[in-house]
Amino acid sequence: MIDVHAHLTRISNIDSIIDEALSNDVKVIITSTLSINEIDRALSLARKFNGKIYVTLGLEPTNLNLKDIEYIFQILKVRPREVVGIGEVGIDYVKLRDPILRELAKTLFTKWLSISKILNMPIIIHSRGAASSVVKLLIENQVKNAILHAFSGSLELVKRCVVEGYYFSIPPSINYSKQKQELVREVPLEQLLLESDTPELGPRPGAESRPVHVKLVAEIISKLKSVALNKVIEVTTENAIKLFNLNV
Ligand SMILES: [Zn+2]
Repeated sequence: MIDVHAHLTRISNIDSIIDEALSNDVKVIITSTLSINEIDRALSLARKFNGKIYVTLGLEPTNLNLKDIEYIFQILKVRPREVVGIGEVGIDYVKLRDPILRELAKTLFTKWLSISKILNMPIIIHSRGAASSVVKLLIENQVKNAILHAFSGSLELVKRCVVEGYYFSIPPSINYSKQKQELVREVPLEQLLLESDTPELGPRPGAESRPVHVKLVAEIISKLKSVALNKVIEVTTENAIKLFNLNV
């Protein structure tokens, strides 16, 4: 299994949590940064666990500083071999209430989308209270390799995204989220990915998430879609390898 989205730089007992995942059939963990000061730590983790941990670079959706985006763009352009994509980035209307800041957030998100296109890199997207704005911008900007992480938009938007060929990464909160369960019924296996979003979105409300939980996500997808567990694991792994161009 591949955990396509975790925040390993935001947990304290990193080594034991990584060991737990790697000894329970998690082959690769992609860790995503949300700030400039996490980048070095994420890259050194990827070097330490060579071929097992990869990195995507992004910023908190509430960080509206263009200079920080430019800084990350410079790193992405060099294409360090540990870095396989952009993210997480996105729009969060729950945290950004001011209409002027919302407009700025949309402009900066569009900047990320153009970086993704220029570098031909997949992009992991967060949207909270902003699903329709995010989907509209993805379509307008003709983004191809989009991963909607823990997507909470309507079923109608999900259907639109399926037609556009976007991917959905499913977190352990599917264990109790009816909305995520509906989403999984709607999206073809070929467009699904497993994620832990460590340490958020664990299998119970408020519980910490760990990469090993992607197994539970795969089991739930298997039940919801009436597809054998090994088929779910095989297809979601292939999807991740293809999308992030992983060497596994
Ligand atoms: Zn996340």
